[in-house]
Amino acid sequence: MSSAATQKSSSRMWRLSLSLSLLCLLVSCATVPHTGRRQFNMVSDDRLDGLGSQAFNEIIAHEPASKDGRLVDIVKKVTGRVTKAAEAMDKPGFNWDVRVVEKDNPNAVCLPGGKIIVHSGLVPYAKNEAGLAAILAHEIAHAVARHSGERLSQQVALHGAIDIGKEMLKQKEGKLDNKTKLLLGALGLGGTLGIVLPYSRIHELEADRIGQLYMARAGYDPAEAVQVWERMSKVTKPPIPIWLSTHPADEERVRKLREFLPEAEKIYSEAQVKYGIGSPL
Ligand SMILES: [Zn+2]
Repeated sequence: MSSAATQKSSSRMWRLSLSLSLLCLLVSCATVPHTGRRQFNMVSDDRLDGLGSQAFNEIIAHEPASKDGRLVDIVKKVTGRVTKAAEAMDKPGFNWDVRVVEKDNPNAVCLPGGKIIVHSGLVPYAKNEAGLAAILAHEIAHAVARHSGERLSQQVALHGAIDIGKEMLKQKEGKLDNKTKLLLGALGLGGTLGIVLPYSRIHELEADRIGQLYMARAGYDPAEAVQVWERMSKVTKPPIPIWLSTHPADEERVRKLREFLPEAEKIYSEAQVKYGIGSPL
């Protein structure tokens, strides 16, 4: 081998070993609760939760709070029950908070660290307490399973280092740069800010499955999760709600929810208190 070739080969090896060392430093492996899937995450929980809180504070500072006292009380009550179930089952140790925002476009999101936003326009789709529990539990499952961290890690890998410490959220809607859009999309705020970055099929099915367990443990009939998605699947005329554009309500989803149901029904049968489908919204 010529000395130039040897040099090239050793430089390649050096780069490879550096990349692997960096990867070992950056990447931590975790296991998703209930599904056992191993996930790679380059973003620390502290950083992720900090971004979640920052985004939450921005939203509640700029969006009108709902004045419907009855709805706010029901959302708080159902959130309290579902988050208690999530803590009992998987101990995320989140600092939970929930706000209802007066917005017609149906949407709900649970940010990393447990900060939840619900749009008032979600009511017709949720229909009753159990329907709301199904939607909230699905969003909470995304947060507990750290899907945002995985999405953000993928974006970093695809688009280079994003300075996630930047005060990105202070930029006005409509003037967001591409990196900020990717960050917000990864956090699950795609719908809220009109940026569509759908969760992967793996994340969706995982959140459906874990969410059904949480709502059952909270005392809500998990069969209502299937009903919610069937209601959603009937929405075919534009404008398609934001939440549906990031959560396709297709046949596979409904079929899988039915498949997961026996596991959730077993937990529901053991729930200390049963609310069935609860009150209408
Ligand atoms: Zn989802």
